[in-house]
Amino acid sequence: MPGDRGQTRSRAHPGAAVGLAGCLVLLAFLARQPSLDSPGFATVWPSGGIGVLWFVLRGARLRSLDTLLLAAAMAAANAILGADPRINAVFAGAAVAQTLLAVWLLRRWSPELWGCGGDRPLDRPRMLPRYGGALAVAMATGAVLGTAGASAVTGDYEPVAGLLFFGRTLVSSLIVVTLGILVGEWLTRPRPRGSLIGDGPVVELLAASVFTSAMYGLAFALDDLPLVFPLLAATVWFGLRFSTLVSAAHCFVVGVATQTLTMTGYGPFAAVERADIGSLLAEFYVATIVATGLALSTGRDERQALSAELLRTQEETLYQISLREAVIGSMKEGLFVLDDTGELLVHNAAAADIFGLAREEVDWDALAERSGRWADGSTVDTPQRPSLRALAGEAVHDVELLITRADGTERVVSVSAIPLPRDEVRRRSRALVIFRDISTEHARRAELAGFAGVVAHDLRNPLAAIDGWTEMIADELETGTLSTDLARDFVSRVRSSSRRMHDLIRDLLAHATSSQRDLEVGPVDVAGLVAEVAAARHAEPHVLVEPVPAVLADPVLVRQVLDNLIGNALKYVAPGVEPEITVRGCRTDARMVTVQVADNGIGIPAAERERVFDEFHRAHFRDYEGSGLGLSIVRRIILRHDGTIVVRANPAGQGSVFEFTLPAHD
Ligand code: ADP
Repeated sequence: MPGDRGQTRSRAHPGAAVGLAGCLVLLAFLARQPSLDSPGFATVWPSGGIGVLWFVLRGARLRSLDTLLLAAAMAAANAILGADPRINAVFAGAAVAQTLLAVWLLRRWSPELWGCGGDRPLDRPRMLPRYGGALAVAMATGAVLGTAGASAVTGDYEPVAGLLFFGRTLVSSLIVVTLGILVGEWLTRPRPRGSLIGDGPVVELLAASVFTSAMYGLAFALDDLPLVFPLLAATVWFGLRFSTLVSAAHCFVVGVATQTLTMTGYGPFAAVERADIGSLLAEFYVATIVATGLALSTGRDERQALSAELLRTQEETLYQISLREAVIGSMKEGLFVLDDTGELLVHNAAAADIFGLAREEVDWDALAERSGRWADGSTVDTPQRPSLRALAGEAVHDVELLITRADGTERVVSVSAIPLPRDEVRRRSRALVIFRDISTEHARRAELAGFAGVVAHDLRNPLAAIDGWTEMIADELETGTLSTDLARDFVSRVRSSSRRMHDLIRDLLAHATSSQRDLEVGPVDVAGLVAEVAAARHAEPHVLVEPVPAVLADPVLVRQVLDNLIGNALKYVAPGVEPEITVRGCRTDARMVTVQVADNGIGIPAAERERVFDEFHRAHFRDYEGSGLGLSIVRRIILRHDGTIVVRANPAGQGSVFEFTLPAHD
């Protein structure tokens, strides 16, 4: 809470009350000397300010020991000054009343001020009228009470005495309370507190102090010359160049000096014929310099605070801009903000990249022209465009569009667009559009959907067969007509279906791992692997291996490639034909090795040669069993090694030649 610090901190130690009471009594001793021709009123100075500061610092209440102590101190001071006991009682009562009223008014009219309920120093010109007004009203009340009481007691009425009373207490409260509040606030400010004198250089402070001493020395030494007005220059200097605290301290020093010198008979005010009028003039002079000094220095404080705030806001704005640039610049998603005139207000590098455009080529027309189709290729009606829907106030999420990049290739992007707060200055709607390239994801999704469909179909077939045959066995058992031969036939059909399922599941697993397994690349001896595969298949007599240069690849995956190709070459032969397979390899360019697996099998019709590498595509499904996954696994593995694979008719006449490339190992 803003008020807390001032409230709690202002409850100064009770010792402070005793000290301030002692101060009042001491000042009374000092004030005994003046030869002021006072019309019977004690001239305890500056009692008004000390009482108010005391109550502000202590946060004291009306009914408190502080009030009693203040009354006692005032009575003691008046007694020291030799006041008549009845007059003493009137003045002490008036002093307590004005003090309590001043504190009460300050807490009401300046609650934001340190010590009065808040935690602010006196640092804004607009705080001054209420602050000065509270002190003036309280001191005027004290003056009226004191003057009226004294007149009632003595039967004498002297208007100047009332004015003097008011002037003394007002001036003392202005210089003492102001300085006290400013110092108290500075001392209780959280650290680091900043410089006590503000930003002005110390040398200037010294110069201003020397100037003040010189001007006051001159004015008070040459008291037959009216040199009071140039003194204001010192106040203006302090007010314009230093903090309110320093300016208030300056006012305090010159105020005390002016009053003391005047009371002791020095200076232009003491030179006035009537001593009480001279004193009155001195009081109003001090009030004037306090008002001037505070008005100027609080104005300066306010200006400084505003310019510091402005600087901070500017720095914050620059920071926010650089942060925004960094964030949107590092995004992989394309982003742009456009308004309803079609102007692109912001766009990032990724937006240009996704469209394959240079950053400066990006504008709304270029983007709109390249993104007019849905992911399925159909045309997007203009009002259905995500950006236009967002400009109309609708939030659009994850809409898939087909875009044409600058190089003519097509990509699928997922677009979200949200309306932004309207630009009220230029009266335009704005929208934020974010999009990302999901071509790979999209292709994979399509592939997965097809894959899942075929898997479901291919697994269901043997399952249905198993179902059918077992049902028939059950029927036969029921009727008791199941012969051993029939049972053998049924069981063999069931086993064949379950083997098909088993093979399919194995191939599916191999298919999944061929793309997921991390490549563990190393030098691979292809000829050695071919020999291993042939041996594992007991097909050594059918496989001829010629030398193959070493390749740099994942040996497990290369073995899978060779196993699939050799397995197919052994499988796809015409009945009665002995398979003959030849594997050879050579270095085709600086980077790659080409490997050929040639067979004497049934061959693949020209129209099927591309498609046999697709998942589940089978060129000869009638007479040969298979899942249609082997070659798609092979192609996937080869592509993962940045190689290529094709199949052609065997130039030797019968069969096919599978030819693939893999990175060479040097
Ligand atoms: P599968 O052999 O399980 O049917 P593949 O993906 O290994 O599946 O092969 C796809 C299709 O390509 C096969 O069904 C077959 O029609 C054809 N094919 C593959 N290898 C050969 C080959 N060496 N000779 C003739 N046809 C082949």
